[in-house]
Amino acid sequence: MTDTTPTEVEELLERCIAFHGHLCMGQVLGVRLALKGLELLQVADPKRLIVFIENDRCIADAIQIVTGTRFGRRTAKLRTYGKMAASFLDLESGTAWRVNVGQLPPMDPHDKSRVREVLHLPDTPLLQWRQVEIHLKPEELPGKPKRIVHCSRCGERVMDGRDVPGPDGPLCLSCQAPGYYRALEAGA
Ligand SMILES: [Zn+2]
Ligand SMILES: [Zn+2]
Repeated sequence: MTDTTPTEVEELLERCIAFHGHLCMGQVLGVRLALKGLELLQVADPKRLIVFIENDRCIADAIQIVTGTRFGRRTAKLRTYGKMAASFLDLESGTAWRVNVGQLPPMDPHDKSRVREVLHLPDTPLLQWRQVEIHLKPEELPGKPKRIVHCSRCGERVMDGRDVPGPDGPLCLSCQAPGYYRALEAGA
């Protein structure tokens, strides 16, 4: 599969389990997806990488650990498509690959020893991959925020171009449309 030795792969899985809190199919598949992505790109420096992770479940933790990318550093991005897949972009060359889980052998996903076997299965048919094109907006790049405005309604600071135009100036997303929360009483 990769230039990573079986022992190194086991060690990576242990680091993922320590971070994530348990051994699960997601940790194993996350390790496999991440190693394949790194192998295809041939980029080891996490500062050169942007990884798009397509669900916010178990694989998201493993992929961050193995690639060294982090949501908090803007090098890992969440795209909640509900898929067992991730794309790997080399910021220097612009090359990108998407890797997804193809065919898993029939097994009980709660059988820990069987789950571990998946770590050493051949790449195919476990994984599928193809080269892709990714347009990353400048506001999505790591580094200092490129745009900071104050919402014309709530007055809160909005970074990273996440504001939208409103009748009296920029609006934050929760003022522009019903957001994920509703204020219950006047705050402090
Ligand atoms: Zn898990
Ligand atoms: Zn607002």
